[in-house]
Amino acid sequence: MEITEGVPPVINLTEVAEREKEEFEKKVSELIIEFGAENLLACMQCGACASICPLARVGFEWYNKKLIKAILIGMKEELLDDPTPWACVACNRCTEICPRQVAPFEVMFAMRRLMVEEFAIPTLAIEGLRSLYEHGHAVYMTGREARKKVGLPENPPSTDSDEKALQDLRTILKNTKLAELGLIPME
Ligand code: SF4
Ligand code: SF4
Repeated sequence: MEITEGVPPVINLTEVAEREKEEFEKKVSELIIEFGAENLLACMQCGACASICPLARVGFEWYNKKLIKAILIGMKEELLDDPTPWACVACNRCTEICPRQVAPFEVMFAMRRLMVEEFAIPTLAIEGLRSLYEHGHAVYMTGREARKKVGLPENPPSTDSDEKALQDLRTILKNTKLAELGLIPME
């Protein structure tokens, strides 16, 4: 910006907006890398991950490939408003197929971590997290009656029927940001 004595400086708003945008873009991709998606910048948008992602098939807006693109161009606010990362079923097929070792699954989970940091968590995810704390399952088991009918123990052989494993899981959860935010019920 040029300054001449006695003349108020002229601020180039386009330049300022561009500079702010660059800082913002840098920030969201840097945060995602910090939160575990170390190879984010290697993505070449080939679409292989999208071709096998169940989220893309059922119409979620920001499935893996699109999520990565949106992060790279700095669409932080739009992404914070969208629940897609919480619908990821962690099948890891995208990570297996990616030719650039980006691990899109890690990008999904890094986005979740950013959302927790920003307290932008959809209600449905909060219920899942509470269920995880209480039963060890983010999607709570509803088939107890059916299990009994076919002669199986009412509780599945998982954290739900293993008190020590459940306590260990709770200890881990209590040491996360979720407890700090008051989302995980404390005993
Ligand atoms: S994450 Fe991998 S598979 Fe997906 S678009 Fe990028 S390079 Fe292709
Ligand atoms: S891990 Fe998540 S993002 Fe990757 S293919 Fe499975 S559902 Fe899609």
